[in-house]
Amino acid sequence: MGYGRRGSRVSSMSEWDYVVIGGGSGGMASARRASKYGAKVALIDPGPLGGTCVNVGCVPKKIMWNAASCAEELADAEGYGFELSVSGLDWGKLKQRRDAYVARLNGIYARNLAKDGIKVIEGWAKVLGPREVQVGEEVLHARHILVATGGYPRKPDIVGAELGLTSNDFFAFTEIPKRILIVGAGYIAVELAGILNALGSEVTLVVRGTELLRSFEQILREVLKAEMEAAGVHMVMEFAPSELKESHHGMCLSGRVGRAAEARELSADCVLFAVGRAPATGGLGLVEAGVQLDSEGHILVNEFQESSCSTLHAVGDVTGKATLTPVAIAAGRRLVDRLFGGQAEAKLDFRTIPSVVFSHPPIGTVGLSEEAARCEFGEDVKCYQSSFTNMYHAVTERRSRTAMKLVTVGEKERVVGVHVIGRGADEMIQGFAVAVRLGATKSDFDNTLAIHPTAAEELVTMS
Ligand code: FAD
Ligand code: NDP
Repeated sequence: MGYGRRGSRVSSMSEWDYVVIGGGSGGMASARRASKYGAKVALIDPGPLGGTCVNVGCVPKKIMWNAASCAEELADAEGYGFELSVSGLDWGKLKQRRDAYVARLNGIYARNLAKDGIKVIEGWAKVLGPREVQVGEEVLHARHILVATGGYPRKPDIVGAELGLTSNDFFAFTEIPKRILIVGAGYIAVELAGILNALGSEVTLVVRGTELLRSFEQILREVLKAEMEAAGVHMVMEFAPSELKESHHGMCLSGRVGRAAEARELSADCVLFAVGRAPATGGLGLVEAGVQLDSEGHILVNEFQESSCSTLHAVGDVTGKATLTPVAIAAGRRLVDRLFGGQAEAKLDFRTIPSVVFSHPPIGTVGLSEEAARCEFGEDVKCYQSSFTNMYHAVTERRSRTAMKLVTVGEKERVVGVHVIGRGADEMIQGFAVAVRLGATKSDFDNTLAIHPTAAEELVTMS
């Protein structure tokens, strides 16, 4: 037994090539690839393994989105001649099956790490210095340290914010809320609003500005808002929340609405904040180790994922850049390609990151919006767009719009943005992301034979 650099008790000291803090998307992918290069790797996480994406993010969210899509299709089935009687949703059963799937994934991750010879240490890590990490009473000495601690949901700075829920609580719901206010207009707000609305909650989306998904292509924003309203989601725009309190009707959110800043109260059974996420860097000892953070606490890294301390690296949400699972995974892998794989220039290209918003209807998007393209290329931008009703709705009572836009630049009309909202957009965009990455032009799109009858064919037949 001895004492660590900052006076804490230490019972053992070990040597590693690579110590990874955080067993989420970025940390696990990076650790596994490093071990393939022969590095001696330890990974620290309090558990369960898989981080945000697997436990309270993409995976359980997608299952809930699938459930919501089932609900829509069950309602549509009558149009296709089915006589169905659905007696309701067993939320408990859905949650139990979803949680069991997540638990299976947690087990698979643990087995994969063991198979790769990675030592998994359960606990909260603290950085003691440029090459030292402490977990419990153990100190690990490393050639390189990766911080991939992700983030957690923020709450707004208003009175009573602690009474509000977050996306983490959504996954713990044992029953569906009857009436819910969701504050926010980003990915999580629109996804959870769509899911809960389709599954039977009365949902009000409370937005501080005038737009959903503010930084997205305009056609996506417009169609999403119209479609969500048509599906029954209430919207309160330009609402600045100031206080949350309990009332005899459940919860009461006060604030001011519109340019006139008129006082208004909104009530529901619960209020969920989806107002962004904060990086998990507090108490990690980073600043003391010489790591620079931005004003929100994200780790500042260069294009090689290197922090201001050259042995300390960071990937994923903790860096605050393109906070998506595939980005964390790819950045974590490129980093160890460089550190242990002899690829001195390996780094992630952060341009043209494709993304899907699992809203109802879903959005698939890659590259620049028209607005962003005009900022970068000025007048040299030409766009093509199309809006129609998917043939799926030819016989259904419900009608949902599909809209698409291609953003091109230059004489050759290189496609720099593909944006789709509508049924199937989520599965449509991956292939088009390849085309955009390869620098395809509008004529390449036009010369590609259409697949008929699909919605996607519109992307290669637009004029
Ligand atoms: P995380 O996955 O958050 O992992 C961080 C890990 O670090 C955690 O396991 C945590 O326990 C551990 N940790 C934290 N502090 C310490 C410490 N001191 N010591 C040891 N371990 C520590 N992205 C998509 O691409 N598609 C989606 O559909 C999608 N849906 C989402 C839905 C929701 C509701 C949310 C919240 C996010 C979603 N995301 C989605 C984003 C995605 O989950 C994140 O971008 C991704 O998980 C980031 O991976 P990461 O490795 O950076 O961090
Ligand atoms: P986002 O950054 O996407 O959106 C945050 C929203 O909260 C914005 O609409 C913002 O409004 C609003 N907001 C911020 N502060 C306040 C406030 N004080 N009062 C009211 N509204 C406020 O964050 P999310 O939490 O939705 O998601 C976090 C990240 O996780 C996403 O950015 C994305 O990277 C990732 N994610 C990805 C998913 C996917 O790939 N499908 C799904 C879910 C999450 P304004 O527009 O005015 O700034």
